[in-house]
Amino acid sequence: MKPKRAAVIGAGMAGVSAAKLLSAAGWDVVVFEKSRGWGGRCATKRIEGCIVDHGAQYFTMRDPEFDAAVRSACGDALCTIGASVVDAAGEKLEARTMFYHADGNSRLARALGADLDVRTAVEVAEVVGLEIGGEHFDTIVSTAPWPQTCKLAGIPIVSNPYAPCLAAIFAYDLPWEGTATQRYGVRDDSSQDLAWSACENHKCGRIADGLTVIVAHASETFSRARLEQAPVEWSAILRRRVEELWEIPPGALRHSYPHRWRYARVTQKIPPAGLPAHWIFAGDLLGASRVESAWIAGRDAVAHLL
Ligand SMILES: Cc1cc2nc3c(=O)[nH]c(=O)nc-3n(C[C@H](O)[C@H](O)[C@H](O)COP(=O)(O)OP(=O)(O)OC[C@H]3O[C@@H](n4cnc5c(N)ncnc54)[C@H](O)[C@@H]3O)c2cc1C
Repeated sequence: MKPKRAAVIGAGMAGVSAAKLLSAAGWDVVVFEKSRGWGGRCATKRIEGCIVDHGAQYFTMRDPEFDAAVRSACGDALCTIGASVVDAAGEKLEARTMFYHADGNSRLARALGADLDVRTAVEVAEVVGLEIGGEHFDTIVSTAPWPQTCKLAGIPIVSNPYAPCLAAIFAYDLPWEGTATQRYGVRDDSSQDLAWSACENHKCGRIADGLTVIVAHASETFSRARLEQAPVEWSAILRRRVEELWEIPPGALRHSYPHRWRYARVTQKIPPAGLPAHWIFAGDLLGASRVESAWIAGRDAVAHLL
């Protein structure tokens, strides 16, 4: 019997887990990914000879199946961050094990999705019936954020359940010492501007000697207000806050790399309803905005289909 065919839109965590499970069930699966790389919001940038996670900073592994899959896929590349996360007053926040992939968190998706047929740099612009680019599929699994899925499926976007996040990487010509060595991250959920900043030097072997690299994520309020502004405007504000918080002299900046996440985190739980027949949706909208939850969402959506 001819195997059933599925098109999975997106090679992020949900896409990779959905595709793997379908493939294990004997389906012929093609993953379409519009970016050049895998991982989606579990994103890594290579800059100045350094590897920097500018989307998901670390991941948790509370789900035993996820834990087992990650350990088997990553082997020795699975690492943990030793230093702590503090609040704005410098108080340690509740400890949790923060995992990362030695070669960049985007590699997690690649490791978990080994052997899949993933076509990168291929944006699905339209789905005609159940055809993509002239190829017929029995099922379409979309893991594109819900508003993008609605657009592709030709159904109305009733609401956008995600908040944006303005982010920036700041690379400083500064040996790694002082405040930056004492803590990994600073979280300030009540901040009007900088909600999260973290020093990537804590991820072993990732940052070139003589550099200190800080990743900054703006608060939801700040990100919403400035989403359409030129990055040069908002990244200057985040940079000033980072330098205050991490005691970095302003003249030390070598480069900054701003990034606009339009659909960063789920802030509103809505049921992903109204899709055409033979479409399913998977993604962090079905759980929480976490790497682990996205993987679980992909797994569960496909388990339900099977
Ligand atoms: C700034 C930021 C920081 C975060 N920090 C953490 C953290 O520290 N820890 C944690 O656990 N989680 C964190 N998260 C959340 C976590 O990254 C996400 O919840 C998770 O990665 C979502 O995975 P997904 O597969 O659901 O979606 P995505 O990762 O968004 O994957 C969807 C994929 O679909 C592709 N796509 C979309 N449209 C098309 C199309 N038309 N054709 C082809 N491909 C398409 C996209 O390019 C993307 O690769 C963070 C997120 C952001 C944005």
